[in-house]
Amino acid sequence: MLVDTHCHLDLEQFADDRAAVIERARASGIGWLLNVAVCLKSCETTLELSRRHEDVFASLGVHPHYADTVNEDAFVRIKGWLGQKKVKAVGEIGLDFYRNLSSVVSQMQHLRAFIGLALEFDLPVILHCRNAYKELLAVLDEFHNAGLRGVFHCFSGTGEDMACLLERGFSVSFCGNLTYPGNTALRDILKEVPLERLLLETDSPYLAPHLRRGERNEPAFLRETAQAMADIKGITLEDFARCTTQNAAALFRIEGI
Ligand SMILES: [Zn+2]
Ligand SMILES: [Zn+2]
Repeated sequence: MLVDTHCHLDLEQFADDRAAVIERARASGIGWLLNVAVCLKSCETTLELSRRHEDVFASLGVHPHYADTVNEDAFVRIKGWLGQKKVKAVGEIGLDFYRNLSSVVSQMQHLRAFIGLALEFDLPVILHCRNAYKELLAVLDEFHNAGLRGVFHCFSGTGEDMACLLERGFSVSFCGNLTYPGNTALRDILKEVPLERLLLETDSPYLAPHLRRGERNEPAFLRETAQAMADIKGITLEDFARCTTQNAAALFRIEGI
């Protein structure tokens, strides 16, 4: 059994066949999914999906791209949902200085506010980070000793960035781009990550693995990335699946499914 700890099945790319996509995930051995919201509307759809499907869990938050759209009302509404049983994380939140679709000030402000909520509700954070590892790590250090836990998803930093996040106790996941022939540097970084800190994700509909490159990604394609990661770590897919599923269950406190 594999688990997909980061997908966006609420997005419009899945509007026509969402249920079939979830069925294909099950058929391919995906034990459960964590659907990760990116904005207020996405939080509502994510909650709805988690209510409809026993094996779909919810992470609620606002992606740095949408930081400028968060007002007090949106923040209060999201906070009001965090205590629900199927909500297992706050995210995705973080900093994206690559595309800079929201102002830096607003990204910083909402990152801190959502970390505050994660601590208040004792939930892990799902962190999105592009071209901002130093800045994001500095914000996390402000919450040092507060008991913050979480994962850097879709890792795209340097070996030094990886060392810094591991040192702070965070987990990490890689997307399908890890399997692209040109991404040797990323594969070299993965070699140094302890197994107990690794999670699996697709980030569907984005970043389909090599054999599906260019297609809409979906959770059923997770196996290709998982196999590539297992090969790099020098263990069988079965052992790698068992280990990453345990890691995910422990971080998100999802048991008995
Ligand atoms: Zn992301
Ligand atoms: Zn994502």
